Amino acid sequence: MKPILFNFNDAELAAFVTNMGLPKFRAAQIREWLRRGAPDFGAMKNLPAELRRDLDATARTLPVRILRRLDSTDGETTKFLLELNDGEQIECVLMRTTYGNSVCVSSQAGCAMGCKFCASTLLGLKRNLSASEIMAQVLVAQWELRRTRTDKTDVRPNGDPNNGDVSHIVIMGTGEPLQNTENVIDFIERANRDLGIGWRRITVSTCGIVPGIRRLIEWGRPINLAISLHAPTDELRGQIMPINNKYPLADVLAAADEFTALHNRQLMIEYILLGRKNSDGETELFNATPQHAEMLSRLLAGKNCMVNLIPWNAVDERDFASPSGNAVHRFQDILIKNGIHTRIRRERGTDIGSACGQLRLNNAKNKGNKK
Ligand code: SAH
Repeated sequence: MKPILFNFNDAELAAFVTNMGLPKFRAAQIREWLRRGAPDFGAMKNLPAELRRDLDATARTLPVRILRRLDSTDGETTKFLLELNDGEQIECVLMRTTYGNSVCVSSQAGCAMGCKFCASTLLGLKRNLSASEIMAQVLVAQWELRRTRTDKTDVRPNGDPNNGDVSHIVIMGTGEPLQNTENVIDFIERANRDLGIGWRRITVSTCGIVPGIRRLIEWGRPINLAISLHAPTDELRGQIMPINNKYPLADVLAAADEFTALHNRQLMIEYILLGRKNSDGETELFNATPQHAEMLSRLLAGKNCMVNLIPWNAVDERDFASPSGNAVHRFQDILIKNGIHTRIRRERGTDIGSACGQLRLNNAKNKGNKK
């Protein structure tokens, strides 16, 4: 396997350059391109063409390679299917929004959590991603933004939400970040240090791994925490999220409260609205009736939180249905009446299969599911 230069520290990169018989300054030039996320050596314009070819035969730049790039028709969302060095596949999504450019990254190849509505978990967990593999997803998105940017004169410092670079990161792609907590923490530290992305612009979303939340508390950075709640009672949640049998709602919310109190942050609650087709082919609401909205209001009463309502993104293999727009609005109205902050998560990139793990799953199916 070719070495991946992005994974090298400065001493290793210097040794690599010397071994190739190159002058030392080449290491600094290559480092700068790696920092920017150059997908291949051909992009390293200040290196001689012959050297770029030699490097290409000897090494790789990033620990991820773009297999497919899909753009939504509205141009706002770009989804990448990426291949890791060992052939595993992951996804990341770039979302261009009014508040900046957000990247949704995966933390694992596959997932072991077994949530009944989700595509990411269908093929099980393959492995954790390294901090460098998570970081590379952000750089792929950043490279794409710079490649497609028309106004090249207005380049402001890193981390400025208006400079056209990545300004926000959500760790909400495939995988459970708090089953890979140390690498996720390393990654966030790097994104903050190397890309200047503020703690408050980085969100970790978890299905509710209590020891992981406690580790984030101990770590102490004021990032955003999102809890995938999806049901107002242990009984209902246990039916769709096996993890609830290990960490019940009260424990998850207590740990989350502790985190948000420490940093004086608003807690994000993710709530997918799910329906089910009955034998007459009609959609019955699973967790999205007015009674469920009342129960959720009671559970969250008095908390500093924002509930993101997410109409379920259909996954063929899963036995659920998306609720009607009316049902979604009725649910939201009840939360608002009860004084709970809430918004409906706008669906993005549905034309490019942007639901968690869809692209990876479809690709695996097309290959006869050999992996
Ligand atoms: N494991 C973490 C992060 C990855 S999932 C977590 O559970 O939070 C990111 C979010 O997308 C979660 O809230 C998850 O429940 C939700 N999700 C998964 N499949 C979905 C689907 N088909 N439609 C809508 N949301 C989905």
